[in-house]
Amino acid sequence: MLKEYISQKTLLSDISSNKKYSLYTYIVLAAVSCVMTVMNVITHKGTLTVCTGVFTVLCGLNILLVLVGPLTEAIAKVFFAIEVLLMFSFFLISGNPDGFSAIWICMLPSIGMFFFNRTRGSVLCVCMFAILVTVLWTPVGDLVLFYDYNPTFKMRFPVLFVAFHILAFILETLRLNAYKETERLQKHYRELSIHDTLTKLYNRQGLYSTLEENEDYVNAEKIGAIIFDIDNFKHINDTFGHKAGDKVLIAFSELLESSLNGVVCRWGGEEFVGVYKNGDVKVADIENALAQFKLMVFTAHGAEFSVTASAGVCEKENYDIEKVDLLISKADKALYIAKSTGKDKVVLFELSS
Ligand code: GH3
Ligand code: MG
Ligand code: MG
Repeated sequence: MLKEYISQKTLLSDISSNKKYSLYTYIVLAAVSCVMTVMNVITHKGTLTVCTGVFTVLCGLNILLVLVGPLTEAIAKVFFAIEVLLMFSFFLISGNPDGFSAIWICMLPSIGMFFFNRTRGSVLCVCMFAILVTVLWTPVGDLVLFYDYNPTFKMRFPVLFVAFHILAFILETLRLNAYKETERLQKHYRELSIHDTLTKLYNRQGLYSTLEENEDYVNAEKIGAIIFDIDNFKHINDTFGHKAGDKVLIAFSELLESSLNGVVCRWGGEEFVGVYKNGDVKVADIENALAQFKLMVFTAHGAEFSVTASAGVCEKENYDIEKVDLLISKADKALYIAKSTGKDKVVLFELSS
């Protein structure tokens, strides 16, 4: 029963990445403590063996609690902080943690830095430093419990401790900066990959991902698709130049984005697609947009000109947004009719069912 429960819970893919991070930290801590324990046994360090042994067991317990227990991320971290503080105090009070043990416990606050965050890691470090100074510098005569450390060690230990913490702080800051930069670049490239560079509208990929990620579209009662095509655009390019053509494309995309209540993308060339839900766009709105476009006056090489566009529309109830391509192809049929019957108009593709 327990085995089944563990195997269900321990599938790493089921564990949140945050939890995985904690888990890996505990595993590393448990492994290092285990090695320390073995070394302490070999070198006959009685009290230290108990310290590292207890810490190994605690880390193992944390691993179990994270995997099968109800231990949330926050509680696991509080546990960890308490364990570290207890072990640290125990280490210092009980004996002379020289050599590897000293280095190991000096590194603990640095590990805390990566495990929590810079602020909380630093708070943990300050607490440990307070314990460290109290234990090392309290005169032995007053509190007999405390071990009488030799003067070199009293100096070396706090310096080593602070040095590790500063190093960890710098490393964590560098890591965070690199992480933020990677995130920024990833966001930037994702934005680039889903937008058209000329008009800044979504491209096809942008349209698909926006629709699929938007619950309102996924659960919409009705979906509509419009395909726009600028009339005689080749002629505009040929007569007024490509730059003038680009200006027309930008003006048309701005108009569509500001006047249509839906997701608009540049489908390619001088074609644009708009997808809307639940009757958010009416044929009259599209006619309005086309009329506004027709009223725009463009200038190139001292000459003025205006442009028209045509549109095809198709809408369907209870439509699966993943099949939006099919709806667009039906709208394209309506566009073909608009083009072949004089252009500068909107045609609705009537669905039989
Ligand atoms: P119709 O009225 O039937 O739609 O004819 P049209 O001339 O608009 O259509 P056609 O498909 O023949 O021409 C589209 C032109 O759009 C051809 C291509 O050179 C031009 N084009 C495509 N992308 C761009 C662009 O980014 N900028 C500019 N200036 N022109 C483009
Ligand atoms: Mg075209
Ligand atoms: Mg055209």
